[in-house]
Amino acid sequence: MAAVRARIYLDHNATTPVDPDVIAAVADAMRDEFGNASSVHHFGQRAKARLDDARQAVADLIHGSPTEVVFTSGGTESDNFALRGVADALEPLGRKHLIVSAIEHEAVLTTARALERRGWRVTRVAPDASGVVRPDDIAAALADDTALLSLMHANNEVGTVQPVAACAALAHERGVLVHTDAVQSVGKVPVDVQALGVDLLSLSGHKLYGPKGVGAIWIRRGTRLLSAMTGGKQERSRRAGTENVPALVGLGVAARLATERLDGDARTQAALRDTLEQGVLRAVPGTHVNGAGAARVPNTTNIGFEGIEAESLLIALDLDGFAVSTGSACSSGTLEPSHVLKAMGLPLHDTQNALRLSIGRHTAPADVQAFLDALPPIVERLRQLTDRRTPSAASASS
Ligand code: PLP
Repeated sequence: MAAVRARIYLDHNATTPVDPDVIAAVADAMRDEFGNASSVHHFGQRAKARLDDARQAVADLIHGSPTEVVFTSGGTESDNFALRGVADALEPLGRKHLIVSAIEHEAVLTTARALERRGWRVTRVAPDASGVVRPDDIAAALADDTALLSLMHANNEVGTVQPVAACAALAHERGVLVHTDAVQSVGKVPVDVQALGVDLLSLSGHKLYGPKGVGAIWIRRGTRLLSAMTGGKQERSRRAGTENVPALVGLGVAARLATERLDGDARTQAALRDTLEQGVLRAVPGTHVNGAGAARVPNTTNIGFEGIEAESLLIALDLDGFAVSTGSACSSGTLEPSHVLKAMGLPLHDTQNALRLSIGRHTAPADVQAFLDALPPIVERLRQLTDRRTPSAASASS
């Protein structure tokens, strides 16, 4: 009987496996630290000390101060807090204009649409063909009533790193606040809030080998924003609600591991990603890399397969034991073209034929080789099926 190969996970941008050290810390804290971190007594103070420790670890990872770190339920809440919090604070001053890139995560784009419904003007700045926003285009979008620029640090679909520092400097010249969604860059490339020059930064635990449903927003001291979650005085009255101590302890351990492992992980993953990318380009004709040539996070590649519908390829690969994605996880399961690839100016068929492959800390060279061995016959089979269904596609895919 043929040996059954273990499933291979190449979708770390959707979420990461929880690190064993994180699991152990969460389990210990769940058992031992049940106190409410706001309680004055011994149990509360112990829980608070654990939160303080986690806050320091998150601050260290992004080179901020722990007093500026506010814990949230994850990247989506942090993004909402940044956009809605600034909007609530600055709207009374007559600033009702928001600038975002057209390739932001839905957490930002959908929140921007909500602000539009309440009368805000939103400018969506398209990237160039390689998936990078041009600072000149940001400068051109800035207006006297602009309240906030929200520009992600690394894109979740193609991995391109955006020129956040340059754009933040331009925005600040006009008195505009700057938020960056660093959910896909923290733990993959160095993230330094001072060097980026931003006022607000979002991060998420489950992209860093930490627990799901937990994250943080870094808020530069003195930044004007109103709390989105109101209630008790937790998190220096920035975000009400009893903190999830065990999960936040896990976030702290994940952040510390990320700080320790950043350089090594980045080097190893960049080499493995390049092997994967070059291997696919060599083994499968009619493929191209989206975002090639731009600075990218080291774990991500986005590859277009001519003559193929990405969803079919995803399903075929899953049946063969490989977990990949066709873009952001939230839009998987639909045949919606990728808004990121569309904004990069790709023709319609190329916005529906791309796979996102994202490796991680535990991806082994043998995993990449297994994928490279399995992929060509699967693509070949799907192309034959497509050609049979649409004879005119035969010439297009050859
Ligand atoms: N921002 C980016 C760039 C993301 O990739 C994600 C998750 O996919 C989020 C925000 C949302 O984070 P969370 O899943 O923690 O809500």
